[in-house]
Amino acid sequence: MTLDIFKVGQQLVLPAAAAAVCLTWSLTAQPHVPPTFASTTVANSDTVIPATPLATLPIAGRAVEFTLPALHLPTAVLAVALYYVFGFCYTAGYHRLWAHQAFVARLPLRLALALGGAANFVGSALTWSRDHRSHHRHIDTKDDPFNIQAGFFHVYPASLFAATSKIGTADVSDLKADWILMLQHGLYMPLAIAVGWILPAWIAGHYWNDAVGGLFYAGVLRAVLFAHIQRFTDALGHTIGTQPYSSRTSARNNAFLSCVTFGENFLNFHYEFPRDYRMGIRAFHIDLTKWVLKALSLVSLVHSLHTTPLKEALLLRVQRKQEKLDAIKAGVKFGPEPEQLPVMTLAEVKAQTGTGRSLVIMDGLVLDMTEFVTEHPGGTAILTPKVGKDITIAFNGGVQRHSKAARNLAALMRVGRLPELEAASVLRTAKSEGESTEHAKQA
Ligand SMILES: [Zn+2]
Ligand SMILES: [Zn+2]
Repeated sequence: MTLDIFKVGQQLVLPAAAAAVCLTWSLTAQPHVPPTFASTTVANSDTVIPATPLATLPIAGRAVEFTLPALHLPTAVLAVALYYVFGFCYTAGYHRLWAHQAFVARLPLRLALALGGAANFVGSALTWSRDHRSHHRHIDTKDDPFNIQAGFFHVYPASLFAATSKIGTADVSDLKADWILMLQHGLYMPLAIAVGWILPAWIAGHYWNDAVGGLFYAGVLRAVLFAHIQRFTDALGHTIGTQPYSSRTSARNNAFLSCVTFGENFLNFHYEFPRDYRMGIRAFHIDLTKWVLKALSLVSLVHSLHTTPLKEALLLRVQRKQEKLDAIKAGVKFGPEPEQLPVMTLAEVKAQTGTGRSLVIMDGLVLDMTEFVTEHPGGTAILTPKVGKDITIAFNGGVQRHSKAARNLAALMRVGRLPELEAASVLRTAKSEGESTEHAKQA
C-alpha cells in the first residue's frame, strides 16, 4: 500500500490547511479565550460545537483549545443544501451519467454537474469514472481499486488516502471525447476549490456576513464529510445488506444506507444492471437521485433514461430464489428415487421378513420399517400384521390417510422395488383382503 500524495492532499492536507485558516481567523476574530487543556469546546456566547474529527487535527504541534467558527443557522442550512446539491452532481453526474451512461443530459445540466461534482473533492469525473468502471469490471479481485475482499479497512478509510491496490483496466475513451469532462479534468483542483470552498464562503459572506463559517462548514467540513460518507457507505454496501438479484459479487442492497446516499446503496441490483438510471428499481425504494432525474426529464433537461425490462430483473430474482432453495435442499435428506433402488423379488422380501426384518410394500417399493415399528404413532399392533404385505391402501385412507410428513418419512425407509408384475399382484391381494375384512365387519 503506497501513499498517494494527490489523495492525501485532497483528503487531508488541503482540508486541514483550510480548517487551520478558518480556526486561526476565528480565534483572532473572537474574544480572547485563555487556552486550557481540559476541554475541547469553548464557553463563549457563540454556538459551542463538539470537537469534530477535523477540528481535532493537531495544528503545527501546538496544543491549543480549538475554537470552531460560530455556526449560524443560515450557514448550517447552506451546508446541508450544498451537501445535497453537490451530492446529486456526484450520484447523477459522476456515477449514473458518466460512469454508466444511464441517460442523456442537456448541455447546461452537464456543465452544472461537472462544476458541482468537482466540489466534492473526490477527483475529476474522468478519473472517478475510470476507477468506478474498474471497480465494476474487476469487482472483488486484486484489480478492483476498492476490493472489499482485501478487508473493510482496505476500502475505508485506506483507499481515501492511498492507492490500496492497482486499478484494473477500464475503457474511458468515450469520456475522453467529451470536452466538458476534459476541461473539468484539466482544471479540476482550481474548480474544486472555487466551487467547493470559495463559492460557499462568498454566499455566506455576501448575504449574512459569515464568510468564515461558509468556508468551514459549507465548504471544508461538507466536502470532507461527503468523501468519507461516500467511501464508508460503499464499503458497507459490499458488507451488509441483502442479495435479492445475485450472489455473484459482494454487492448488497441496503435500503437504510440508501436514505443517506441519495439512493446509491441498492448495489446488488446496480452491479447486475449498471446502465439503469435507477438503483432502487421499485417504486417504494428510497432513491433520491432517481426521483430528481425523473423530475428533470419532465422539463427535458435529461432524456433517454435507461431502464431494465421488468422480466429481466424478475428472471434474476427467480434464479436467486432457486439458488437459495437449492442451498436449503442440499441440507435436507430425501429418500432415494425409485429408479435408484435395487430390484427385490417378493420371495426375497418374504425371506428377509423371516429373519426378523420388518419389510412392507408401498406403491411397489419395499420399505424397511424394522426400527420404526415400535415408534409408529398409530401403535405397533396395527403395523406388525402388515409386515411382508402391501400397505398402499391402508396408508392412503384404508386405515388412515397419512400426512405428507409420514410419506416423506416412509420414503427414507425405501430399500428396494418389486418387479412390476409382482407389485400389481401384492396390491391386488391387499385390496381383496381389505374388502373381505370390510364384508366380515358388515356381516
Ligand atoms: Zn462499490
Ligand atoms: Zn456503478
